[in-house]
Amino acid sequence: MSTQASDYSVFWNEVMKQMQTDMSEQEYEMWFKRMVYLDSNDTEIVVSVPSSFYRDQVKQRYLSRIESELYELSGNKLQIEFRVQRVETPPHIERERDPVEKPARKEKPKEKKAHPNLRAEYTFDDFVIGQNNSFAANAALAIAKNPGTGYNPCLVYGGVGLGKTHLIQSIGNFVHNQYDNLRVVYVTMENFTNDFIQSIREKKMQAFKNRYRYADVLLIDDIHFLQNKPETQEELFHTFNALYDSNKQMVFTCDRPVSEIRDMTDRLRSRFERGLNVDLQPPSYETRYAILKKKIESSGIDIPDDVISLICTHVTTNVRDLEAALTRLIAYAELVNKTITLEIAQQQLKDIFASPKQSNVTIDVIQRTVADYFNLSNQELKGKKRTKIIAFPRQVAMYITREITEYSTTEVGLEFGGRDHTTVMHACQRIDSRMRTDPTLEPTIQVLIRTIKEQVSKS
Ligand code: ADP
Ligand code: MG
Repeated sequence: MSTQASDYSVFWNEVMKQMQTDMSEQEYEMWFKRMVYLDSNDTEIVVSVPSSFYRDQVKQRYLSRIESELYELSGNKLQIEFRVQRVETPPHIERERDPVEKPARKEKPKEKKAHPNLRAEYTFDDFVIGQNNSFAANAALAIAKNPGTGYNPCLVYGGVGLGKTHLIQSIGNFVHNQYDNLRVVYVTMENFTNDFIQSIREKKMQAFKNRYRYADVLLIDDIHFLQNKPETQEELFHTFNALYDSNKQMVFTCDRPVSEIRDMTDRLRSRFERGLNVDLQPPSYETRYAILKKKIESSGIDIPDDVISLICTHVTTNVRDLEAALTRLIAYAELVNKTITLEIAQQQLKDIFASPKQSNVTIDVIQRTVADYFNLSNQELKGKKRTKIIAFPRQVAMYITREITEYSTTEVGLEFGGRDHTTVMHACQRIDSRMRTDPTLEPTIQVLIRTIKEQVSKS
């Protein structure tokens, strides 16, 4: 029996055993004896086969069965890569030995394998702590050290690129590496949902339940994906209760406080709110600097301090954008084999710095700023009235939202008093065409955008 969710060689062996019991000895000898497990990562298992003919035959006859067996066991859609290894087979690998035995022999049994669904580099060691995230980071570390005993469940929320996934996976990696007997299950809400739908379709609900309910630590990333998914909410509710009752640790992340997720059943919401809710804020200048310093050290590329300050001054949104700027510079430095100077950095990052997309701008800030500017209340701006004096500022606010955030027209509509997405599209078109005839409009919008960004960087 496999107890290690992460060990794909173990799963592979299980499948091979299954095959052996399911078919005649001859058939098994013919097709499975010469297939050798080589390696695996979180998406695929690599096995060697003696020829391409053999590979094609196995694929045709058994691939879908192998894959579904693996899925049943591991809960992951693993691909199989068949590597044809004819003469290259080193002499010390004895062909005739039972392939099922091989992986166990090849590995050093002491060393624990990486968790298949976690990125090994997401660790507490690599997470820079600042004022913006210290509460969340310390809570996460406390949970990782003593899962299931204190803060349960824990919900980490915050905007895009602020380190939610990094933190939740750090918990997973820590537990996975420190505790031999604890089973860590990490899944995004989206994958959980897809898994759920597929399990219903294939009538494999028991296997689905087993995958999540036998976790000691269940980590679910991005639960805002539950919005408008009543059946998945229902299923998660039961999963939650089962784990909660047996004191298993649960950690969730969300891009907003749960109270702001629309269409979530009250009973599920109250479950999320039951434990510890912690937020992640955008990093301050000093924290941005510390994060970049750390990343630069590990990259081994020399980047002067004035360049670091330059990036930190201009990229204020989140850590992901910060990393993107740095990656661009490092790639450039490697390409042209030059040291990065302030000038080069300015040149290379020009468009990043000018980018209008400020991902931590909220619709609320936009609404307030625009309402303020036109002397309206926020209520009026979002309300039902369609008099010209209100409708125009509303269109401006919608237009700006689409310009400087990533929200879809549907989302924007919902935030503006539950309007339809076509209304938002229409508003944007109106403003666009009006800008062509009214030369004062564009400067007005620019002033508003600047004010909004100032608000955001101050907060
Ligand atoms: P989210 O899930 O909130 O959108 P991520 O966890 O994916 O954000 O973080 C985006 C990137 O920024 C990742 O590469 C992550 O490692 C990095 N990152 C975020 N916060 C920190 C931090 N405090 N220290 C170091 N790296 C961080
Ligand atoms: Mg994430």
